[in-house]
Amino acid sequence: MLGLGIESTAHTFSCAVIEKKGKKGKILSDVRKIYHPEDGEGIHPREASRHHIDNSSIVLSQCLEEAKISVKDLDLVTYAAGPGLGPCLRVGAVVARSLASFYKIPIYPVNHAIGHIELGKLLTGATNPLVLLVSGGHTMLLAFLNKQWRVFGETLDITLGQLLDQFGRSIGFASPCGRNIEELASSSSNYVTLPYSVKGNDVSFSGLLSATKSVAKENKSDACYSLQETAFAMISEAVERALSFTRKKELMIVGGVAANKRLSEMLKDVCKRHGCKFFVVPIKYAGDCGSQICWTGLLESQVKSGVSIKDTFVTQSWRLDSVKVDY
Ligand code: AMP
Ligand code: MG
Repeated sequence: MLGLGIESTAHTFSCAVIEKKGKKGKILSDVRKIYHPEDGEGIHPREASRHHIDNSSIVLSQCLEEAKISVKDLDLVTYAAGPGLGPCLRVGAVVARSLASFYKIPIYPVNHAIGHIELGKLLTGATNPLVLLVSGGHTMLLAFLNKQWRVFGETLDITLGQLLDQFGRSIGFASPCGRNIEELASSSSNYVTLPYSVKGNDVSFSGLLSATKSVAKENKSDACYSLQETAFAMISEAVERALSFTRKKELMIVGGVAANKRLSEMLKDVCKRHGCKFFVVPIKYAGDCGSQICWTGLLESQVKSGVSIKDTFVTQSWRLDSVKVDY
């Protein structure tokens, strides 16, 4: 079975083709174009959607070309229907709808966050993990029970990705800033005390953001180092509590921030203490991409035959714990 996945929730416009045979999936192509705001600025939703419109046909044709297929070979089309930025989401939905209605291909709206998790499971081989989803749009600890992902803990304010990006922009990096912060952090080992805020199973980052900005006025590397140590220790504490409670024997990190080596290092230690296997999504597929959407749509096609065009919605705040997962 051949699927096309379209991702356009935020900064990335991406198309991917995956071939599914039984439980196995092979990524035939995954092409992306990323909108980069000016240095020091965040995503401007209208500018990002313009970027997606300008790039959608190039990305789609390159994706089909690399997979060596034509639209007519596709068994289904999937698109990220939320959560995300309205103007950006609509671009992916329009491309998917056009292909589905013109070529009469079944269409599947996919929850972007579930896409991160399902592709993570495919690529790491994790079967029943506690999931840490850390990205620009999410900071959540999740466990699967009775056909739904249950939120064990989450951020009470900004996400881990927003913390890194907003801090990074304040010291002049271009968004997304996670990789630059990781690089600069590695040149310091001088920990400056910062606010540490874990509330039950949840975390709160906004106080940490303001305090780190003040530290950066003295020394940027120390600020990056201390920010990572504090934020990742908070996440590790929440993960440790969730592992004790759920007794899961697997931990999987997905989302753009999963690319961070220091975060993996800290969580590996946590897993060691709990006799738990550690999985991290490969860096290439940590950030937003069409493969996440495509694979989830292919899984859904095992139990559903797609939706009619009038139901091809987009929902900016579509929470993953409201989705029934019955494949
Ligand atoms: P996503 O929304 O899943 O595409 O993830 C994007 C987020 O991942 C942004 O906030 C980036 O700053 C963050 N990110 C990317 N690479 C790294 C890294 N090496 N360390 C920390 N965060 C990262
Ligand atoms: Mg994402």
